[in-house]
Amino acid sequence: MHLEPFEYEKPNSLVELEALLSKHADEARLLAGGTDLLVLVKEKILSPKMIIDIGDVAALQGITADPAKGLTILAGTKVSTIEHSAEVKEFAPALSFAAAQLGSSQVRHMATMAGNVCHGSPSAETSPVLLAHGAVLTIAKAGGERELPISDFWLAYRKTALAPGEYLKAFTLPALPKNAAVEYAFKGLRGAMEIDMVNVGVYLELEEDLETVKEVRIGMGAVGPIPYRAVKAEAELKGMKVDDAFFAKAGELAAAEATPIDDVRATADYRKKLMSVLTRRAFSAAFARIKGE
Ligand SMILES: Cc1cc2nc3c(=O)[nH]c(=O)nc-3n(C[C@H](O)[C@H](O)[C@H](O)COP(=O)(O)OP(=O)(O)OC[C@H]3O[C@@H](n4cnc5c(N)ncnc54)[C@H](O)[C@@H]3O)c2cc1C
Repeated sequence: MHLEPFEYEKPNSLVELEALLSKHADEARLLAGGTDLLVLVKEKILSPKMIIDIGDVAALQGITADPAKGLTILAGTKVSTIEHSAEVKEFAPALSFAAAQLGSSQVRHMATMAGNVCHGSPSAETSPVLLAHGAVLTIAKAGGERELPISDFWLAYRKTALAPGEYLKAFTLPALPKNAAVEYAFKGLRGAMEIDMVNVGVYLELEEDLETVKEVRIGMGAVGPIPYRAVKAEAELKGMKVDDAFFAKAGELAAAEATPIDDVRATADYRKKLMSVLTRRAFSAAFARIKGE
């Protein structure tokens, strides 16, 4: 296969990475696991003049858990590490579950969550659960950093809020308050190695009475050009009592806010129905988790 020529750099530190990015802002692409980027390069959908491999930047590797601050996952951390991390299993079990659904074991050993999110696919496995967690992104460049709620990261189909010269440095998942849980549900045509037809992450937080909804978030995937939150549904669900009617209503409202298309994987109509069922199940699972069932 003939590839367009490109320069290849492999920095060892954030200083080197940031210097390369500021010098080659418009022509460089970061390579993390390469499981999306190299497909696009081989298919000539992208032809970057420079590829910067971040695999040797130790400062981009790792997961730390702080009961007060939450979970921090650095951008170069592999999906397989996230899947198996004891900290992720304890503080964000739905993320561990979502990570385990991405591709195959081989893909997960190469791929990063940063690549999953920065590629900007509407069906990306980890995006809905990160939306449900209210994850905050640390975005960096030479001379500065900024924080951005993940719900503001995707601007349009495969277009993100990263400006030239910027890169995604870390994810922070705020510590869950007591009486709160996050769950993830998805459906693909097959059991494995399949892009999801629909996926959804939900956050449920209850009042002290353990039956009134204090806060909800619904992160939806593969039902629009970007992963996004069902904000109208969230507003309507707050204050409701959690019972079968609540689960049904949550599904109905999420489906109403979904804007899917027909494609090779599913019809728009089927996707809306799936969104309703998966949202209902995810909220039911979150409620059971809060109750310790
Ligand atoms: C066989 C196969 C199966 C797959 N199955 C699934 C699946 O089930 N679910 C799913 O969601 N995806 C799937 N994918 C897609 C892909 O594996 C994931 O999206 C993966 O997480 C991408 O991560 P990566 O590290 O390989 O990204 P890369 O390919 O290295 O990068 C992807 C994009 O993100 C950018 N990028 C990477 N890191 C950063 C950073 N720190 N800052 C700024 N930009 C950055 C790159 O420049 C590039 O534009 C599959 C891919 C293959 C080949």
